[in-house]
Amino acid sequence: MKLNSRIVSALLLASLLLSGCNSMPFESDSPTMSRPMQMKPTSPLPSAPAWADEIAGLYEGQLRVKGLDPRTFPPELWWEVATPLLTQERRFHVREIGQSAEGRPLRHVTWGNGPIPVLLWSQMHGDESTATMALADLFRLLGEHPDHPLVARLRQNTTLHFFPLVNPDGAARFQRTNAQGIDINRDARALASPEARALKSLHDELGPRFGFNLHDQRPGYRAGNSDRQVAISLLSPPFDENRAINDVRKRAMEVAVAIRAILEPQLAGHIARWDDTFSPRAFGDLTTQWGTSTVLIEAGGIDGDPQKQLLRRHYFMGMLAALDTIASGSHAGLDIGHYFALPQNGEVWPDLLIRGGTVVVNGLPSLRADVLIDFKHPLSEEGGKIKEVGDLSGMQARRSIDATNMFIQALPCPVRGEEHTTQTVSITPGKAACLQISRDPEGHDIVWTLVRDVNPRHRPPSEH
Ligand SMILES: [Zn+2]
Repeated sequence: MKLNSRIVSALLLASLLLSGCNSMPFESDSPTMSRPMQMKPTSPLPSAPAWADEIAGLYEGQLRVKGLDPRTFPPELWWEVATPLLTQERRFHVREIGQSAEGRPLRHVTWGNGPIPVLLWSQMHGDESTATMALADLFRLLGEHPDHPLVARLRQNTTLHFFPLVNPDGAARFQRTNAQGIDINRDARALASPEARALKSLHDELGPRFGFNLHDQRPGYRAGNSDRQVAISLLSPPFDENRAINDVRKRAMEVAVAIRAILEPQLAGHIARWDDTFSPRAFGDLTTQWGTSTVLIEAGGIDGDPQKQLLRRHYFMGMLAALDTIASGSHAGLDIGHYFALPQNGEVWPDLLIRGGTVVVNGLPSLRADVLIDFKHPLSEEGGKIKEVGDLSGMQARRSIDATNMFIQALPCPVRGEEHTTQTVSITPGKAACLQISRDPEGHDIVWTLVRDVNPRHRPPSEH
């Protein structure tokens, strides 16, 4: 009996070991587990490709397309800038593949004649324009440097399909959703919006081996538990609830490692990984399910780069490294531990915290309170709204102003679009942020003023 039970134990152990080898080691065994097992890198992070310094050197003078700063450009302006770059002599082909809800053209750009089809789509969220800017720069590289070995390699081995500005109506308003209020990246299953249908048909038509879902994320994200702002975050979206890893997804992770490798020298510690909870309404998750190795790239923020023009260059370099590793096949065998080793997107820090002041609103008793403000455009600090008022000690924000021994007075907040009429005077969560900081309770000795938008030339009293 003893012997038998030993044999049984040995068999059990062997079968456990075997099943451990057969199933993916990083696959969670329960869908309710919050994250898949981590996989540690077993080799050093690959170095940046040999062309990285040379292309980075060319970027400002010869690749960055002018006219796309500020980043809130309308879609018509982008096409005006991009169209001269997309001629037949430069080997581009452009065709209309549909219209947005408001009748703006949706266009598919093709370049290259290699066997690997790659589909890149940008700005399905209308207020996320970094990739769209970087795509224009990429068009310039492909069209104006045809003999560069990197460009020749891309041309021979890949066919690049671009769907820039998936959501032109949203871009025209610089808002996330389309004109009908639909979040196109939650419309991959229902396909209710014309923009989502156009993307799905294009995907069906091309059957791309690789896909790039190009976005911007909130600039408040911290890398893991650190206080470091995330500049770029990456995701190989899952194709099921278990977040299993098949060959399709593994290839996307390899490509993400190539992106990390080129960006690491400049952005070490500021590159993160998106949460990989399966979302059956989202395009990246479904394109992975449909067999396309998909990489989500998100531009976060870099302090002092309100128009994301620096981030645009990093984004460009990241996309280029991804396309090159696909063209050369060098992604095969990259250590995906370097993907898992990226910190996850952590906490989102709110934008601006005014600490230690006394809030004075006409007609109400004054009170000691901190004031938290979020901006519609966090990097340029425009469109401020009061988020919270009260004891916010212990909270962290992207920027803090010390108003100790000072007074915060509500200012009239002119309602936009109405010439005379309504003005609100309050410091209340949800309301527009219009206030001043002064040294005296009456508000004569004013040290800082905010009327929705921060004036960058007007420095606040003290910051930390
Ligand atoms: Zn987005």
